[in-house]
Amino acid sequence: MAHRVAVNDGAAGSKRTSRVRVAVRLRPYMDKQDEKGEGPCVRGLGPQKLEIINWRNATETLQYQFDVFHGEQTTQQEVFLTSVKPILPHILNGQNASVFAYGPTGAGKTHTMLGSQEQPGVIPRAVKEVFKLVDAQEKEQDGWEYSVGMSYLEIYNEKVLDLLSPGSQDLPIREDKDRNILIPGLTHTPLLSFTDFDTHFIPASLNRTTASTKLNQRSSRSHAILLIKVVKSQRGPPHRQQTGKLYLVDLAGSEDNRRTGNQGIRLKESGAINLSLFTLSKVVDALNAGAVGRVPYRDSKLTRLLQDSLGGSAHSVMITNIAPEYIYYFDTFSALNFAAKSKQIVNRPFVRETVLAPTIAPGKRAREEQEAGGSGE
Ligand code: ADP
Ligand code: MG
Repeated sequence: MAHRVAVNDGAAGSKRTSRVRVAVRLRPYMDKQDEKGEGPCVRGLGPQKLEIINWRNATETLQYQFDVFHGEQTTQQEVFLTSVKPILPHILNGQNASVFAYGPTGAGKTHTMLGSQEQPGVIPRAVKEVFKLVDAQEKEQDGWEYSVGMSYLEIYNEKVLDLLSPGSQDLPIREDKDRNILIPGLTHTPLLSFTDFDTHFIPASLNRTTASTKLNQRSSRSHAILLIKVVKSQRGPPHRQQTGKLYLVDLAGSEDNRRTGNQGIRLKESGAINLSLFTLSKVVDALNAGAVGRVPYRDSKLTRLLQDSLGGSAHSVMITNIAPEYIYYFDTFSALNFAAKSKQIVNRPFVRETVLAPTIAPGKRAREEQEAGGSGE
């Protein structure tokens, strides 16, 4: 599966697949999420590590390592600087990128991506930075001109819906001859400035997020996808053109809605509820395993849409959001196993110092859980 990403960039080595960087962000402990007053069950151990209490044996902890660990004190600015800013210059060079917020409902995905007026998140910061980069390039007078535009959509129940054109129907996803993925009919709004972006984005995102409580099934089960496109055109002949795409995605909650009792966290099961989220986890696993086999992009709408912006020559970051309270324990555990596992396969060992879990092979997830859960018994 060669996925050529950018047109006209002579993407040699298009078969090369790049890893998805995985960051984990732990949000601050909240009293009101902890009715029993048990305190936090997760804590940071440094810039790449955290530990979580072993539910089978509270004298043990399970330790995990990632590309980056953002502790509860981490500011919005730090998350942006470490995990997102470095990938943005590629968008101005006809390359694609994607940033995802993954994790259970209530763990901080929307805070990370959108944030608030006082604490703006990745989205406003990234858009501002893109304009800053474009302005700097234009000052260089390098013979290219740039135009920026946005689309904003939602995937809900495997339907693709245009958030800039409320009431629109399910839109088709297509691939052109250069293997670029596109959605005919999707609103694309040209943007001249960050203020311009705000004007279009804020009403559309408020529409979606005002009802975004735990009780709102839709907002926790749909993926909100912001696309920022930068088209770079040569002023003189041969008038080459390059398009760079940046996807900023607030994913559906990773919690297993079907869980009964406190056992049986199976990503597979929650995947049956949200096919796109489950497929995304398989795609990330496949990419981080070196993509020897097929990368199952076509198995869901989200991954199909992101096919040219995830893996290949694209730059991708997954920010896994987790919460420290015990009521999130199993969702946290499952999110960590997903995030850490994708590291394991690329030869940076899944560090879990209290448990020996050396075998990592396809279909291992259930076994990992048994091992982790069953340790010390
Ligand atoms: P999600 O989108 O994953 O469901 P939210 O972003 O809505 O989660 O976060 C749940 C609550 O926790 C919100 O009230 C949010 O403001 C708060 N919150 C999340 N992350 C942080 C953080 N890093 N610092 C402070 N508050 C946070
Ligand atoms: Mg949210």
